[in-house]
Amino acid sequence: MKIAILSQNPHLYSTKRLKEAGQQQGHDMRVVDYLRCYMNITSKKPTIVYKGQPLENFDAIIPRIGASKTFYGTAVVRQFEVMDVFSPNQSQAISRSRDKLRSMQILAREGVGLPITGFAHATQDIDGLIETVGGAPLVIKLLEGTQGIGVVLAETYQAAKSVIEAFRGLDANILVQEFIKEAGGADLRCFVVGGQVIAGMKRQGAEGEFRSNLHRGGNAEEAILSAEEIDTAIRAAKAMGLKIAGVDLLRSNHGPVVMEVNSSPGLEGIESATGIDVAGKIIEFITKNAEQTEEPDHSSGTFRDRIRY
Ligand code: ADP
Repeated sequence: MKIAILSQNPHLYSTKRLKEAGQQQGHDMRVVDYLRCYMNITSKKPTIVYKGQPLENFDAIIPRIGASKTFYGTAVVRQFEVMDVFSPNQSQAISRSRDKLRSMQILAREGVGLPITGFAHATQDIDGLIETVGGAPLVIKLLEGTQGIGVVLAETYQAAKSVIEAFRGLDANILVQEFIKEAGGADLRCFVVGGQVIAGMKRQGAEGEFRSNLHRGGNAEEAILSAEEIDTAIRAAKAMGLKIAGVDLLRSNHGPVVMEVNSSPGLEGIESATGIDVAGKIIEFITKNAEQTEEPDHSSGTFRDRIRY
């Protein structure tokens, strides 16, 4: 099988591991920098050109689209979809997952457990917003933040009010969330492939830090997940339409709550914490499902509908 890994950097751990795992399973693996692809979208025969050569005869792609490159990255993924190339995560699902607010609305509609959350732009009604989530302490998040930057814990009502006012001055979109104190500065990363949780890790924030991000000095170990946590992660990935997803949960006293569903979850942390060959499992899933594209059946809907779990 000929598989393209859409990644800006062939030296990243995740990219290297996917390439290696694919080769070990006998596939022809190529790393393609999607920012250097251009597309012919006008002809009857859609094509993608990369470094002057058309990308042809690929059976599958593995999109690893950077958060800041979502617009162009998903356009490239979409072009492969038009060419009937299998993608475990489709362009639409990737775009959906990149919008934190939209993701939460989708998860809420599907009845997936979430922290009580309020959303606002430049609201005048700060008191009302704070009340929505049950008052202080609460967490305030910039909608555009990543890696824990722009995530603030406000311990008191007054602090919450000041931070919201400050963000309002920046004309930013914000989420206001109940603070899950009982999580104790830890979260769970559940790695979902093809509707199954194949690995789980617990990340613990550094001493005195409520954010568990590894980039902020947290550490990770393998997690023993409860049946409810596994079920929540699977339902969250499914609601987002993602076959490969990193679902981040907090252990709250009202059950597991989803914070985020990531469509390009990193492999380094999870493979080293658990010793599981996550890259190998991704390739196995793709091998099993891309085979179907050899006889495309447009009458039965999209690839998403035809995917085997
Ligand atoms: P980012 O996407 O920037 O990493 P997150 O929303 O994942 O931001 O928040 C970063 C970290 O902060 C999380 O991993 C979690 O440990 C902690 N955190 C976020 N929201 C809450 C909350 N409502 N209650 C308790 N801890 C939280």
